[in-house]
Amino acid sequence: MKWRRQPIVAHIVPIRRCNLACTYCNEYDNFSKPVPTEVMLQRVDRLAELGTSVITISGGEPMLHPELDQIIQRIRAHGSIATLITNGYLLTPERIKELNRAGLDHLQISIDNVQPDEISKKSLKVLDKKLQWLAEYAEFAVNINSVVGTSENPEDAAAVARRAHELGFATTVGIVHDHEGHLRPLGEREQKVYREIMQLEGKSFSNFAYYNQFQKNLLQGRANEWHCRAGSRYLYICEDGLVHYCSQQRGAPGIPLEKYGAEDLEREFNSVKPCAPFCTISCVHQVSMIDEFRERPRESLGRFFPAQPDQSVPYHPPGVVRVLAWMFLPPAENGSRKRLTEFFTQAALWCLKAK
Ligand code: SF4
Ligand code: SF4
Repeated sequence: MKWRRQPIVAHIVPIRRCNLACTYCNEYDNFSKPVPTEVMLQRVDRLAELGTSVITISGGEPMLHPELDQIIQRIRAHGSIATLITNGYLLTPERIKELNRAGLDHLQISIDNVQPDEISKKSLKVLDKKLQWLAEYAEFAVNINSVVGTSENPEDAAAVARRAHELGFATTVGIVHDHEGHLRPLGEREQKVYREIMQLEGKSFSNFAYYNQFQKNLLQGRANEWHCRAGSRYLYICEDGLVHYCSQQRGAPGIPLEKYGAEDLEREFNSVKPCAPFCTISCVHQVSMIDEFRERPRESLGRFFPAQPDQSVPYHPPGVVRVLAWMFLPPAENGSRKRLTEFFTQAALWCLKAK
């Protein structure tokens, strides 16, 4: 948040091959070889040089890479947060313990349905045992993502979220997108399921992104007004080492990572992406919110925590948000509160070792 000109999240792809073939997916093939480990480590080093805070390994299926743990270790050696997106098929108790030892911070599995079907084999039936092993052995955080709009039975997404809660995992819910990252309109049943999963989560600071106007607008097929910072705050590095905006806008800017620098980050911070209004790529929404928040904190809080139609009046945002706003956002005219805020700011920077 403090430095504007560095990536916050980067996705890297160590292998394009996948052991599954979900029919809605355009991010895999069934033949690619793993990217040589040495090359992946150089890419991690370059991302660290650019100051990237979170490096997410995805694919294809990244667990097909034979030296995945070395990549995780290198990310951690730079002090970045290492996260992994997997279909979970290759998880075993021993493999989970190895990921612990490698220092993995966070793992996400997307589960599409309760029973496998011709669209997706990422089903609760197949993966439930893996989830139990994760609950037992994982020392890293686990998030289960269910996507509304992939299954013929939209209620499956709610069943997945309930099971994830039972096992003590965090859950997120995404909205299915087409091959350009755009919204596919959801039916009434799917919208109902989405709302049900949201209620499971409750209102907290950690899931605020899902309560914002973005998702509501998308659910109703309405455009969002936002500035996508892909190519600057968020980078997608394909298996060939090229920087792209995101998984759904590959080809732009398409510059090799080793040549990607401050000028590129600056240009893409400011560039306007025509695909933004109906974009469903929630990780880029969230990353972009950080700059919106830094530049317009009070307005942003209003957008992130809008009053819900069914809420009693007056509306209050979550308690932790009110406390943080009191600590860091004083009224402009109040001099003594400003001094207190300066104190809190300096203390926070010191605690975050950013000073
Ligand atoms: S498991 Fe993931 S990468 Fe593989 S085909 Fe399905 S959605 Fe695509
Ligand atoms: S708006 Fe940004 S994140 Fe969304 S599809 Fe376009 S480039 Fe990708």
